[in-house]
Amino acid sequence: METKFIFVAGGVMSGIGKGVTVSSTARILKDYGFRVTAVKIDPYLNVDAGTMNPTEHGEVFVTDDGCECDQDVGNYERFLDENIYKDNYMTSGLVYKSVIDRERNLGYAGKCVQIIPHITDEVENRLMKVAKKQKADFVLVEIGGTVGEYENLLFLETGRIMKLKMPGHVLFLLVSYFPIPDMIGEMKTKPTQHAVRALNYAGIQPDIIIARSTQPLDEIRKNKVSIFCNLDVKDVISAPDFKGSIYEIPVNFEKDNLGKRILEKLGIKSRSKKSNKWDLMVKNIKSAAKPVKIGIVGKYFGTGDFTLADSYLSVIEAVKHAAWSLKRKPEITWLSAENYEKDPAVLEELKNFDGVIVPGGFGKRGVEGKIAAIKYVRENNIPFLGLCYGLQLAVVEFARNACGLEDAHTSEVNPDTSRPVICTMPDQLVNIKEKRMGGSMRLGEYKCKLTPQATSYKLYAKSLISERHRHRYEVNNHYRLKLEKEGMLVAGTHPIRTNGRLGRPTSNGTGPQKNLIEIIEIPEHKFFVATQFHPEFKSRPLTPHPLFVGLIKSASGVKI
Ligand code: GLN
Repeated sequence: METKFIFVAGGVMSGIGKGVTVSSTARILKDYGFRVTAVKIDPYLNVDAGTMNPTEHGEVFVTDDGCECDQDVGNYERFLDENIYKDNYMTSGLVYKSVIDRERNLGYAGKCVQIIPHITDEVENRLMKVAKKQKADFVLVEIGGTVGEYENLLFLETGRIMKLKMPGHVLFLLVSYFPIPDMIGEMKTKPTQHAVRALNYAGIQPDIIIARSTQPLDEIRKNKVSIFCNLDVKDVISAPDFKGSIYEIPVNFEKDNLGKRILEKLGIKSRSKKSNKWDLMVKNIKSAAKPVKIGIVGKYFGTGDFTLADSYLSVIEAVKHAAWSLKRKPEITWLSAENYEKDPAVLEELKNFDGVIVPGGFGKRGVEGKIAAIKYVRENNIPFLGLCYGLQLAVVEFARNACGLEDAHTSEVNPDTSRPVICTMPDQLVNIKEKRMGGSMRLGEYKCKLTPQATSYKLYAKSLISERHRHRYEVNNHYRLKLEKEGMLVAGTHPIRTNGRLGRPTSNGTGPQKNLIEIIEIPEHKFFVATQFHPEFKSRPLTPHPLFVGLIKSASGVKI
């Protein structure tokens, strides 16, 4: 089958679940037996999402091949239960940069290089490459922002041109919002009519409208949208808010026949009997009843007067996947590290949790609060999982309080510390010095060899694993013996070869050749595991991550 492209644009306002709509549609098509992938296009000029503050743009997700991308890509992976690659992510910045770089290399053979066709061609070529390389039957293309914005016009234009070139192979979906203002008490369709008008100006007629609202669309409203927006009433899909998990959305979409409608419109038949693997998983989620309370100690919560849980999206989802797989209902609470700095008595609240997570992070703010929280859970035997910065700060805490190295710190926060237990990775020194910060961290998949007596080894049930990374600092091997002597276990390392020998000198050039520390544990503790990598990026609802499963098991009173 020749690849079909489904472009998905947003109408009226952002934040109404366009990413989840793309993910759910992808899942439905996969369950019909097709090979499906998804692409995210972000209209901003950042070359990737890596340089953005998560409170500004949500979590930075990392793929196996080291792309720092938008959190929606995480949803694609979680719904499709498949890897998404660097090729599947682009921003205006990246697209323009490639075209300009090519122009500087005489790649346009003397032509005048223009936004149209050269930028739109670049976008189209990138989409075609995804289709070909990944042998996709369907490529879903999510266009960031909402229609009518200057920024994403070029991407809509690409879609329009592709539809013209490949009749019958391209569809447009509009995910639009239908408000129900309190003072009127009635669902309004006009904003969506305007959104469709904006699409029409771009030369595009939506094939399907996904109607997001607090309530389902009734027949009157469906008919109105059909007439004013120029599409069959069957192509107006109702997508009301609901209390359940986002993973129920594909099931709900199917109630309105979204998948069948897409196939009908493209004139293709389902490839196999619809798989019910997903539906069974959703049933399982609904039956999870007994609560498990998990506290997440972080700092990227605030945006003005609102709380933004999106900064830690993959962590939250990973907790949920693991909890549901054990028939537990996850109750997640945000704990602000800065509160522990202001008033250490607040630390007592940690007693109320079955498990605590310190997730990834950067910089100084909230660090002492996180260290205090780690000390508290270590001393009070509360199940703990540290992720990236969470591992680094667990090492700082242990060095200070269990090894008596009072001045211990990470060089990220205190470059002058006399005890840099967390130090800059040798190959990062030059990046930091020359301010080459974009896309230059240790990114993506690296192997990790587990230590046989470790809890992690038991949980993974294998000795060689591969996980995703995003960091510039690492545990300083100079202190490894001291940490081990006081009861910390190095549970996993990444083998490094230097001049043919395994390991490399410690960062300050002293001590034996050692490998990069990837996991630490405290065997004395009920569950104290911390990783230099980000296990949350590989957790999926159909395949929960073993370390999160370990945390939830321990938090539920199971001995591991
Ligand atoms: N700031 C730390 C580093 O760069 C940890 C990064 C993270 O938590 N992702 O090494």
